[in-house]
Amino acid sequence: MRDPVSFLGQEYADLVRQELDWKLRVLEGPSAPWCQIDGKRVLMFCSNNYLGLSNHPRLKAAATRAVETHGVGSGSVRPIAGNMDLHVELEHRLAKFKGAEASLVYQSGFAANSGLIPQLAGEGDLIVSDELNHGSIIDGVRLSRAERAVYHHTDVDDLRKVLGTAEAHAPAYRRILVITDGVFSMDGDIAPLDRIAAVAGEHGAMVYVDDAHGEGVLGAGGRGIVSHFSLRRDQVHVEMGTFSKAFGVVGGHISGSRSLVDFAYNRSRTWLLSGSHPPPVAAACLAAIDVLESEPEHVTRLWEHTRRFKKAMKDLGFRTGKSETPITPIMVGESGLAKRLSQRLFELGVFALPIVFPMVAKDQARIRTIMNAALTADDVTFAISAFEKAGRELHLL
Ligand code: PMP
Repeated sequence: MRDPVSFLGQEYADLVRQELDWKLRVLEGPSAPWCQIDGKRVLMFCSNNYLGLSNHPRLKAAATRAVETHGVGSGSVRPIAGNMDLHVELEHRLAKFKGAEASLVYQSGFAANSGLIPQLAGEGDLIVSDELNHGSIIDGVRLSRAERAVYHHTDVDDLRKVLGTAEAHAPAYRRILVITDGVFSMDGDIAPLDRIAAVAGEHGAMVYVDDAHGEGVLGAGGRGIVSHFSLRRDQVHVEMGTFSKAFGVVGGHISGSRSLVDFAYNRSRTWLLSGSHPPPVAAACLAAIDVLESEPEHVTRLWEHTRRFKKAMKDLGFRTGKSETPITPIMVGESGLAKRLSQRLFELGVFALPIVFPMVAKDQARIRTIMNAALTADDVTFAISAFEKAGRELHLL
């Protein structure tokens, strides 16, 4: 008899043979600037915890308090019995923070993209997507019955061409949805959202931006990419984000008009059919907004460290690609070399993972560093020295 699950072991073995399997490191304590990973004390240099909020005392206190007042679970999905005052308050506060009419919180950013995108565009519609958009957008698009088109990465002329062709399509598309990441997570470059919105506007298309890596980083007080470009809500119709990165907790969200939010929660299956956030999560997210509003120094320090580190890497002779944000890729080329550089950095006390094929093209392997506001200036100096030493040893400099 054939073993129906023999493919599991075989496919995993194939991944190991091609060195494409994930070898998981274990974080033995909080995601703090200095952490204990696999028994070694190292400087965290690749988390998404941009502002260090995941270990901030105000967030921890809020989460602890919420466990005492509301328990550890919500008991249900939100449309049935799991809609707590904390969830509702969080959405009010987020909308205010974003300067939007309304916001909606999903269980994760992935759930927001995969749940909402297929509802915004279906049969007879067209979705136009940047070729380097995040996987959760790609999955959301795949779940839709809409036709799909991609435009070259951040290339507004190509977007214009795609939309021009779409205009000539017969029968005419019912709706067109243009989707882009705000900050691209592998390169740290920023989508030209002002120009994307202008071109989409000329063609009557909706605009959806995934600002997972722009929140807490770009815009006034870290309000994100819509604020960064001073765009209006009738130019960017869906601003999607996540509490799992700069906000330091977990959970996805969208902001926009009241009608967007009313539509989204009634139609997104990920929202309707999945349990709502535990009270400490919602409370910690609320505290994160408080911190962003009252402690602007975190965003300021993030950018000070970022500018200094980028300049130091360039001055040393590393290639840092086209990054404009706290995500700074150190371009290495060949994947084996990127892995060796990461291993050497770990030995020297810096934790920065390599990004290799299939996440990026085969000859584009890199170490993706992500700056953190909780680091001290001495920590940044330490990281620069480690990169210099490892880079020289591996003949990258
Ligand atoms: N969009 C982008 C651009 C992301 O980088 C991520 C996280 N890797 C997500 C969406 C998903 O967010 P979450 O972690 O909240 O599921």
